[in-house]
Amino acid sequence: MSTPEDLVRTIRSVVGDEPFVGLHVPDIGELEKRRVEECLDSTFVSSVGAFVTDFERGIADFTGAGHAIAVSNGTSALQVALQLAGVGAGEDVIVPTLSFVATANAVAHTGARPFFVDSDEATLGLSVEAVADVLRSARVTSEGLMNAVTGRRIAAIVPMHTLGHPMRIAELVSLAAEYDVPVVEDAAESLGSRVDGVHTGTFGRLGIVSFNGNKIITTGGGGMILTDDDELAGRARHLTTTGKLPHRWEFEHDEVAYNYRMPNLNAALGVAQLERLPRFLADKRRLAARYHEAFADVSDVEFLSEPTGSTSNYWLCALRVSGGVARRDAILEATNDAGLQCRPFWNLLHAQAPYRGLPHGPVPIAEALHSSVVCIPSSPALATA
Ligand SMILES: *Cc1c(COP(=O)(O)O)cnc(C)c1O
Repeated sequence: MSTPEDLVRTIRSVVGDEPFVGLHVPDIGELEKRRVEECLDSTFVSSVGAFVTDFERGIADFTGAGHAIAVSNGTSALQVALQLAGVGAGEDVIVPTLSFVATANAVAHTGARPFFVDSDEATLGLSVEAVADVLRSARVTSEGLMNAVTGRRIAAIVPMHTLGHPMRIAELVSLAAEYDVPVVEDAAESLGSRVDGVHTGTFGRLGIVSFNGNKIITTGGGGMILTDDDELAGRARHLTTTGKLPHRWEFEHDEVAYNYRMPNLNAALGVAQLERLPRFLADKRRLAARYHEAFADVSDVEFLSEPTGSTSNYWLCALRVSGGVARRDAILEATNDAGLQCRPFWNLLHAQAPYRGLPHGPVPIAEALHSSVVCIPSSPALATA
């Protein structure tokens, strides 16, 4: 079995010998500085301004979504998308237990409750079989589809494209359609990832992406709601802009809404980053290919490649290591000691303090993935290290 030191050497053979190599460092260059300066000079630094419109149009073009609505972050994007999909207080939303806490928090912010289910070995995403089990055992009533475990209405399903690798989204969408349950895609990590050429986040009724500092492109903090539905897009814009009715001077608001719009200053950064995204994607594929090759001969370690039939953005490159949590932790210890910022998966959501004790589905695969995956340095700049 390869030792943690073998892994350090192998990662070093790819990323070079800089003393500290971050997990995912944003790449901010001259273009970003120019756009942000233009924005400052314009004085339109808040949520009205040309960069917001440009950025929305750019993301819509890039993803093929009919509409893109820029908001303050991925969590607020997901919360609003869930509300627009009809999720309300006291209901259930099916969520993978293997995800970042934002996926569950967005559900909780709507007053609904996450119902955690298992993940898929091959894609790292929500298990379609696990969702099928929940839907098949549910009771059809006049109020909707009732979860057999909780007695609550199943209001939506939130698949997540883990580390940028697309989950089996087409299968999930057709399964969900059979039961008339809306799919809201958490594509926070998968900007640039596609299935048969179709962008992740555009399969469900609504989808969201994130532009947090560690994502493939950043606006500092930011998110986007994607949808093809004209009416939902209009509602998304209204609900994230304080519910204000358009008027030259009147402040008339027709519902309790949010101040979730993305500031123009952040959008200026996003416009520049989006222009560079194709290059980041190419660099990440090159980095992934180099890791793949480097780890081919290292025993008991597998480099996680994109699922067949899909194109991943390889947001975070990752290894699957055998030997259980003890070996995983020894590897995390050795790599981090050596200046290589490596991370495990997030702790499973069903076991985290805010969600502990909620009823959930069986989660054996998520547990196995959690104890065996190590994310390794993935900044696009490393492709040329
Ligand atoms: C980053 C992320 C989000 C959104 O995060 P924000 O920091 O609010 O932009 C949501 N879900 C997943 C899986 C994420 O990785």
